[in-house]
Amino acid sequence: MNRQVMRNILEKIRSYHRVIIFRHLRPDGDAVGASKGLREILRSSFPEKEIYLLNSDYSDYVAFLGGEDEEIDEKLYEDALGIVVDTATSQRISNPKFGLCKELIKIDHHIPTDAYGALELVEEERSSCCELIASFYQACSDELVMTKEAATYLYTGMVTDSGRFRFRSVSGDTLRLAGMLLDQGVDTEQLYANLYMKEFDTLKFQSYVYQTMEISENGVAYVYVDQKTRLRFGLSFEEACACVGYMDSIKGSLIWLAFIEGTDGVIRVRLRSRFVTINELAESYGGGGHACASGCNVNDRKQMRELIGKADALLKDYKENNEGWL
Ligand code: AMP
Repeated sequence: MNRQVMRNILEKIRSYHRVIIFRHLRPDGDAVGASKGLREILRSSFPEKEIYLLNSDYSDYVAFLGGEDEEIDEKLYEDALGIVVDTATSQRISNPKFGLCKELIKIDHHIPTDAYGALELVEEERSSCCELIASFYQACSDELVMTKEAATYLYTGMVTDSGRFRFRSVSGDTLRLAGMLLDQGVDTEQLYANLYMKEFDTLKFQSYVYQTMEISENGVAYVYVDQKTRLRFGLSFEEACACVGYMDSIKGSLIWLAFIEGTDGVIRVRLRSRFVTINELAESYGGGGHACASGCNVNDRKQMRELIGKADALLKDYKENNEGWL
């Protein structure tokens, strides 16, 4: 744990009157939870300061957590401290005005690819950025205030980014911090109802994915969802992107890929794996992410087939050289 960096960040926050929090584009539960959780902690700890959360997009998946702040005058960025959470590279920050801030702090758990903060708290081993923020709170709990609302945001990010505490990145520390958050009174029944209740159309879409998904020679499961199909099921782009999760438990399939066509024709790729490292494959297509959860874009079906072929070769190599996989 980078206790000294955490204390330095607290010191920096103390020295500013205005703090603006940013996260990555197309935010997931962790990015929303971390940004909203941090905002809540800072607002409760420093009621005299102006704390804003200003991003250009939101997440339907965790919309139940509530919205964003109203945009503020551009001039107000200039003497503000910017804190960017859950974002490895500055190109993915969901508000281009982040560069106007006087200083930036990065708080992240991704493999570092771009150092963009004057102060950086990066702990790759954390299962979520929310876990890291909870740890930051704990290291500075003599000055920071945790509330039930903040704990709910952070706990939501922790459960969504760790596959409900199933992933290998979950450590004893993850659960101890989650326990600390639960002690604040997080309503888990309401949270899980929000996470699991599905629209009728979504379930129909799920059955479509199971019918149309394919599997490569060495076990890469994949599905392609074009715009027409997505609209037929009445789904937003983000809802359609959730289909990668439907393929996560096929025996012998240690890599699974979802290709979802966007409104601009570009195909978003969501890569997931068990045991096999796939972030380098995503990086070779201009994307990135974690060892077992990455993302990138491809331009057309031809590039899609090429990526599937590379994933298949990766999996073949893994299976030939390793034992004990399912
Ligand atoms: P996703 O499939 O969007 O949930 O992404 C899985 C992981 O890969 C997340 O940690 C993302 O931050 C990262 N990621 C997704 N898309 C990209 C991209 N185009 N470039 C870099 N990292 C990405």
